[in-house]
Amino acid sequence: MRKSLIGVDLGGTNVRVAGVSLQGEVFHRRKESTERECGKEVVIDKLIRMVRRALEREKREGRKVVALGVGVPGVILVRRGIIVSSPNLPDWLNVPLKKMIRKEFSLPVVVENDANAAAFGEKWIGAGKGSNSLVCLTLGTGVGGGIILDGRVWHGEDGMAAEVGHTTVNPDGPQCKCGNTGCLEVYASATGIVSEVRRRLKREESVLKKSFQGREDLFRAEDVFRAAKKGDRVSLKVIEQMGRYLGIGIANLVNLFNPDMVVLSGGVTAAWKDFIEIVEEEVRVRAFVIPRERAKIRKARLGDNAGLIGAAGVALQAVRGKD
Ligand SMILES: [Zn+2]
Repeated sequence: MRKSLIGVDLGGTNVRVAGVSLQGEVFHRRKESTERECGKEVVIDKLIRMVRRALEREKREGRKVVALGVGVPGVILVRRGIIVSSPNLPDWLNVPLKKMIRKEFSLPVVVENDANAAAFGEKWIGAGKGSNSLVCLTLGTGVGGGIILDGRVWHGEDGMAAEVGHTTVNPDGPQCKCGNTGCLEVYASATGIVSEVRRRLKREESVLKKSFQGREDLFRAEDVFRAAKKGDRVSLKVIEQMGRYLGIGIANLVNLFNPDMVVLSGGVTAAWKDFIEIVEEEVRVRAFVIPRERAKIRKARLGDNAGLIGAAGVALQAVRGKD
């Protein structure tokens, strides 16, 4: 009988469950809205029901599921499979998710932070396929990170490693919601880009001002990228600044970890052509020659499947490690 995996991506908006091959190929995928406002019991019931359905389908299609991986945003104690806290699921405090899933299905279960799972997915079959050590940065609403060292997710002692978005790239920079100032996230996230543009619109001219007259709170990072393509100076300046600080952050990572690759994912990569040269130049100026020549900077390949595939991948690694 062929073997397979189940990957789960438990997000604040959607729960997604997939049947995944041992090579990382997605056989089928199902998505339902999380309905987190109904409370964690309802969400867990939904997750169990979706997993049961996926297991039945795997069986019907002649495959035996050997492990199940769940990616969740927040602080996770991976060895015990406990969700300590999650910014996207506020009532999830110290939830022993691994135990709860194992009670329903007699399967090896791994619970992993979603950004770590996405990094593992990209390393396994995405942009970082074939690499051994990789850093993945998700430039979305915030800036998430995942670090793979010698083929394994690096968790840190409290499961809090790889908070790359909250490393300081400018000590005199704006306040970050984490309490620090000048974090990478205030420059390289969609939210950061929008607030920087908004700040500049108060004293500079821009096409954004004209198209969003009096409704500046409505524009989004995509509008900034579109304006930059048309040559809007404010948008270009903000993206340039973003590239500079992202480059500083990446140069630090390159010197610290000497990875094969730095993978960038998330909505902000839509402006790739406008920032990548600035990022590369900053890394060239700041990092040592050997690690910077090693570390290729690449765009992620798996899109929003990265977490799902990666969760299945870490579960497979866990069962293989026991062989
Ligand atoms: Zn911060």
